Amino acid sequence: MFNKILVANRGEIALRVIRAAREMGIQSVAVHSTADSDAMHVRMADESVCIGPPSSAQSYLSIPSIIAACEITGAEAIHPGYGFLSENAGFVQVIEDHGLTFIGPTAEHIRIMGDKITAKETMRKLGVPCVPGSEGGVATLEEARRLGEEIGYPVIIKATAGGGGKGMKVAGTAAEMERAFQTARAEGKSNFGNDEVYIEKYLTTPRHIEIQVFGDGKGRAVHLGERDCSLQRRHQKVFEEAPGPAISAEERARIGKTCADAMADINYIGAGTIEFLYENGEFYFIEMNTRLQVEHPVTEGIFGVDLVREQIRVASGLPMSFQQEDLKINGHAIEVRINAEKLPNFRPCPGRITQYHAPGGLGVRMDSALYDGYSIPPYYDSLIGKLIVHGRDRPEALARLGRALGELIVDGVDTTVPLFHALLGEEDIQTGNYNIHWLEHWLETNLGDG
Ligand code: ADP
Repeated sequence: MFNKILVANRGEIALRVIRAAREMGIQSVAVHSTADSDAMHVRMADESVCIGPPSSAQSYLSIPSIIAACEITGAEAIHPGYGFLSENAGFVQVIEDHGLTFIGPTAEHIRIMGDKITAKETMRKLGVPCVPGSEGGVATLEEARRLGEEIGYPVIIKATAGGGGKGMKVAGTAAEMERAFQTARAEGKSNFGNDEVYIEKYLTTPRHIEIQVFGDGKGRAVHLGERDCSLQRRHQKVFEEAPGPAISAEERARIGKTCADAMADINYIGAGTIEFLYENGEFYFIEMNTRLQVEHPVTEGIFGVDLVREQIRVASGLPMSFQQEDLKINGHAIEVRINAEKLPNFRPCPGRITQYHAPGGLGVRMDSALYDGYSIPPYYDSLIGKLIVHGRDRPEALARLGRALGELIVDGVDTTVPLFHALLGEEDIQTGNYNIHWLEHWLETNLGDG
């Protein structure tokens, strides 16, 4: 086992990793930009190293600075968290070239899954069901038009390098194809430096269901059920739950096994998430994330396992501490993402926290790097906390969420907390009757956000 690991991230996810390390008796090293000198992850880690100015490009994304921080502190392994360098195959290569360990999958797995066309091809070969669409990239508008007719409108044009909801455009009819095709290409080029696109059938009322997988890198892999992350704004998740209210035990066992077998086949190591759209009882693969997800705590809640601890274990060469038979679902968990944003337009709202009080009690987990007097810097993501609740069943989890939101105090900045109070009053949320478009419609009707 490692003696010391470096956490190449900030905010709540850096705390998450430091906490797991501490429970395992491993020393932790935080890295930070000059804007984060007072950040909670710096205070909580055993050691810290300043790696650059506020801009992420010169700090949290600076591979040489992070490697230098490892060398200075003697850290043997790096946990990337999510975002930043977590899905950067080049980073993994440099880490290995320096004789260090990346706590995550191999560079090759990151490369395969990071390119959405290659990912889809790989998954199809592994027997995972995919959204009907083009085989590979679509180079010309003529080809796109032909495929539009063949697949049947509406279709979605996606940048193969896309992520975070960028580089995706829907063409509802043939008349909309030219614009959607050019825009998706342009967004792919400007955001990810790659203008290759592909085309898929656009599903009109699916749910976003993702399967948590975990592998030991030696041909053994398990699944930890699904999360329903259908409540999204601009393709970004805001509310996640496990198990999915629309998924039966048989469906879970079937798609879970398909995913676990696929991961065993490719010797996948560590945590991964296989994302599907789910409509009329069918699963359609859309992409795989080769890292820990923001919403991993709902899975931890219902299975009672520590996914970060497990990541560290397998990265150090130890076997997984559980097998498929050990993984039993207990109750229901829900996460809401609390952002420093002002409703109704979700405008980022950085600033000084004058008062912070986290909710507590049975079944409540608050993952946040806030504290009284903390100033949220304007340079990074606006996620300031995740409130996760666990109950014996879904109604109990919902009631607990309402109670915990009522206890939470974040003064000094606007947050998305009022959104969740309002959502809990909706019958569709209470009954679990929603799909990936539900929230956008609700926001338009209730807040005029559009
Ligand atoms: P990103 O990598 O940007 O997160 P994804 O491929 O994971 O992109 O898709 C994000 C979201 O976009 C999905 O959760 C879903 O809401 C929507 N989406 C993606 N593909 C389709 C599709 N074929 N039909 C309908 N909606 C889609």
